[in-house]
Amino acid sequence: MKVAERLAALPPYLFARIEKKIEELEENNVDVISLGIGDPDLPTPPHIVQVLQEQVQNPENHRYPTSVGLMAFRRSVADWYQGRFQVEIDPSTEVVTLIGSKEGLAHISFCYLQDGDTALIPDPGYPVYGIGAALAGAENYLMPLKEENDFLPDLKNIPTDVAKNAKLMFLNYPNNPTGGTCDKSFFENVVEFAKSFDIIVCHDAAYSEITFNDYSAPSFLEIPGAKDVGIEFHSLSKTYNMTGWRLGWAAGNKDLIEALTTIKSNIDSGAFQAVQYAGIAALEGPQDCVTEVKRIYEERRQVALQGLKDLGWNISLPQGTIYLWVPVPPDFSSTEFAEQVLEKAAVVITPGIGYGKYGEGYFRISLTLDTERLHEAFSRIKKAFGSFF
Ligand SMILES: *Cc1c(COP(=O)(O)O)cnc(C)c1O
Repeated sequence: MKVAERLAALPPYLFARIEKKIEELEENNVDVISLGIGDPDLPTPPHIVQVLQEQVQNPENHRYPTSVGLMAFRRSVADWYQGRFQVEIDPSTEVVTLIGSKEGLAHISFCYLQDGDTALIPDPGYPVYGIGAALAGAENYLMPLKEENDFLPDLKNIPTDVAKNAKLMFLNYPNNPTGGTCDKSFFENVVEFAKSFDIIVCHDAAYSEITFNDYSAPSFLEIPGAKDVGIEFHSLSKTYNMTGWRLGWAAGNKDLIEALTTIKSNIDSGAFQAVQYAGIAALEGPQDCVTEVKRIYEERRQVALQGLKDLGWNISLPQGTIYLWVPVPPDFSSTEFAEQVLEKAAVVITPGIGYGKYGEGYFRISLTLDTERLHEAFSRIKKAFGSFF
């Protein structure tokens, strides 16, 4: 059976070789430690689980939800924006519930892009932005995220003819995989750029609550005029350790929300209502679980920082996300380095090239395992390689 061209045209799965190696090692009973998984290992806080347990018993929740999502959930999203960012959101027109933000990030391209259009895609980046745009028929124009620019795209560097033809731009701060963060002035420039070229802005704020030290991430929607040009995607996945539950939302410009709701009503039929009630409990309940999650990640960051130091790296920790983005040692490609570390130390790291061509030269460490395993991972690498620099 021949797959459609749009599927055949997807980039090759770059982790296939590494996954095969992991499988081989595990078949030989080697204990592989993965620093590659972007999926929190910690459980969902019990008060959220309890609400699901209650709601799952209510037959009203056994029926189809509405595509746009429960009004009660959308209202708690609006309240959250008000409390967290002092941003006013109309829950009846400016929010749509998503089955995890990933589906929304993919579906938004189907609402606005078609053959011949251009989408502005951050590179390295979360793959769904560019893949969604390509599946919808659009050309990806890559915006390199470079360390010397604090992992922000250089908007002035986008050629005018590209900007004129671009319909949609994806952004993500705090950023996966680089850990880069931004301030409001960057978003102000984005709004101005978007207005002058008539570009829709889709900001992915999945890590807005996973920040460290004194840094607090801004919302794109805080910027005057942002709602004229874009929407923000958000997710319960990382903040409340709810990746498996599939719950997120998009908020902002009402035409974009309406278009996203229309496509969703034709493809899926919304998020399980019991899960949405659990989401309300997450957003409206006590937030000390978030403080605790950040404390745990901070502890792990310190272990990883020390581990990297012992190997010769002198990096500084990012202000957000559950990742560290680290330059590969000289004379390795990111894939070669990941393969060597796996072979010699049975530790999985993610090669930067997996997040786009400008990810080459880096690897990503995910802090989704406990400090003991992290220590073990670094001491194995140390034993196998000594120091890299
Ligand atoms: C984990 C993650 C998400 C969240 O996806 P969900 O579908 O809501 O689980 C979104 N964007 C980025 C960059 C992520 O890393």
